Amino acid sequence: MKKIGILTSGGDAPGMNAAIHSIVTTASVHNIECIGFERGYNGLIDNATCALPLAKVKHISHLGGTILKSARCPKMLEDRYRQQAITSLNSNSLDGLIVIGGDGSFQGAHLLSLLTDIPIIGVPGTIDNDIDGSDFTIGFDTAANTALDAIDKVRDTADAFERIFIVEVMGRHSGQLAVNIGVAAEAEQILCPEMNIEPHQIVQTVTAHINAYLKVNGHASYIIVAAEKTYPDGASALAEMLTKQIGIDCRACVLGHLQRGGMASCADRTLATKLGAFAVDSLVNGAKSVMSGEVNNQLVLTKLVDTGLGKKKIDPYLLDLYKNKLSL
Ligand code: ATP
Repeated sequence: MKKIGILTSGGDAPGMNAAIHSIVTTASVHNIECIGFERGYNGLIDNATCALPLAKVKHISHLGGTILKSARCPKMLEDRYRQQAITSLNSNSLDGLIVIGGDGSFQGAHLLSLLTDIPIIGVPGTIDNDIDGSDFTIGFDTAANTALDAIDKVRDTADAFERIFIVEVMGRHSGQLAVNIGVAAEAEQILCPEMNIEPHQIVQTVTAHINAYLKVNGHASYIIVAAEKTYPDGASALAEMLTKQIGIDCRACVLGHLQRGGMASCADRTLATKLGAFAVDSLVNGAKSVMSGEVNNQLVLTKLVDTGLGKKKIDPYLLDLYKNKLSL
């Protein structure tokens, strides 16, 4: 094995740069040259490459974003562009490709692997933590802490104004971020797709809380942490509905892309460094069409096609704790 390509795809996640650093440094130990494809699969399809000498990846692990840039690439859904991506792999004489991204990126990587003998390996980089085959994904820890820091600040103003706040966090179709952040922030209510809570139940819960707690203990704030897309009309519409039905000022605070930026945490850098190195070592040992992950402190390989099965569940103990004790 002499030369491998690297790309970052899908939503950027803090720690992607640490993964790039680890891949390039581990590859150099094996005397393997690395090149990068820019802007995710777009760079692969358009053959937009950059050299990745050791000097270029030195001291980048702390940086948010990705030095290779990331992007969505709808062209990957079309067979002719996937063929073009394979042409690009061949024209660069690559012996392997490492894709750092989320489950969508791995579906794309899996389809590419059906068209070529060049081994492709995934490294889970997404703040959503919604990938099967790794207990945690690179970026989740940093994003959770960034959101937590913001919610602690929202709590101050919610307390001062005795308001209800709905804080919308990222996570797309998964409540991993919402539940972990919500519990850590002592949110009075957590909403995510896995809970399937109807709007009228939210009103009931807030009202019950107000009756049982606020009227006895005096004024207080009430924070609802909601995963994005849990309610199709969004946090603002939900806040408006609650204000009308409960009669207490309710505001929406959408954290949005703030959660994707910032310096990667120690946990994310360490995870990225391990999974990046393991991806290279696995390539050298002949692995293909798999993702490098960590389960129960063990480095493991999972077939790319199995990374998006949705088997990963939110920690049941944490969920139970929230439902039965912490939300009282
Ligand atoms: P995140 O969830 O953190 O944003 P992701 O990798 O899941 O990361 P997606 O937008 O779902 O993000 O996918 C990234 C890219 O992967 C897409 O823009 C597309 O190029 C490719 N991709 C996604 N799904 C498929 C698919 N079913 N077939 C081929 N390519 C795909």
